[in-house]
Amino acid sequence: MTAEHEIIIIGGGPAGLTAGLYTSRARLNSLLIEEGLIGGQIVNAERVENYPSFPEGISGFELGELMHKQATKYGLKTLLAEVCGIELQEEQKVVKTTEGNFIAKVVIIAGGDKWQKLGTPGEEEFTGKGVSYCAICDAAFFRELPVSVIGGGDSAITEALYLAKFASKVTLIHRRDQLRATRILQEKAFAEPKIEFLWNNIVKEIEGKDTVKRLKLQQVKTGEESTLDISGVFISIGRSPNTDYLKDILPLDDTGHIITNSRMETQIAGIYAAGDIRRDSTHQVITAAGDGATAAIYAAVFLG
Ligand code: NAP
Repeated sequence: MTAEHEIIIIGGGPAGLTAGLYTSRARLNSLLIEEGLIGGQIVNAERVENYPSFPEGISGFELGELMHKQATKYGLKTLLAEVCGIELQEEQKVVKTTEGNFIAKVVIIAGGDKWQKLGTPGEEEFTGKGVSYCAICDAAFFRELPVSVIGGGDSAITEALYLAKFASKVTLIHRRDQLRATRILQEKAFAEPKIEFLWNNIVKEIEGKDTVKRLKLQQVKTGEESTLDISGVFISIGRSPNTDYLKDILPLDDTGHIITNSRMETQIAGIYAAGDIRRDSTHQVITAAGDGATAAIYAAVFLG
């Protein structure tokens, strides 16, 4: 079965939902396809404090729900399915999913990105048994227990601050002696007594028996090895885009992100990309939403 729409949007985060709001309000028959949770990665954000209009902040889950509600009100349809590929048939694009094929002249790709793996021994073995990529999902399992966070960016600091509400101690392990995170987050982390910083260290191995027990560490400057006893380790070292299924049809940069111009157009007429999946994304909810609006506006012009 192949169903036809004017626009298909891949991804239900802020970029995809905003694109859907704009295309639906432009009275274009629009289908949004999402494989996981509507709202995208913000559903894991305890509080979003930098999205205008919410001076007290808003939970990421609620923000995602509100965006979906608003787009649905204007007619956006949503399908839960995994996208496996896009086939080009002259002007049409066939989006292949686990729920069948869908055809449209325009596709807006807003599939976001996923957590990057550390690649150390023990990471796969103990995932779900002490290794986690999501504090808001798993922090409650570590009440009054020592945990560590790997990374030095905004995500790592956000995770550490959330974990500090549950864990007995949070050791943030960073490979340099300076954080990459924004200053406001750094200030919050330095002021939190439960967070300790272990600078210039990398994780060589995650050890345990049935669950994680300790980390084997190496000081990058001296090469000295040490161990740290912990019950959980939260890996937060950046994200890589969900573009494996696109590499045969679209030019990607060397990190797998989709290359667009400022109109969010890719090199294929009628295919747009928006949000964290595209090169040059600033990985913010507000800019992802802006990308989605831009893609939708130019997509509507393209359809005439
Ligand atoms: P990021 O900014 O790329 O930071 C990744 C961190 O992990 C860096 O500190 C990096 O170290 C470290 N790292 C990378 N690979 C590593 C490895 N193999 N071993 C050890 N450490 C490694 O990623 P992010 O923190 O996920 O943030 C991604 C984007 O989302 C950013 O644009 C950020 O601003 C945005 N974001 C914003 C918020 C917010 O506004 N509240 C929250 C979360 C994320 P180096 O510093 O040495 O490179």
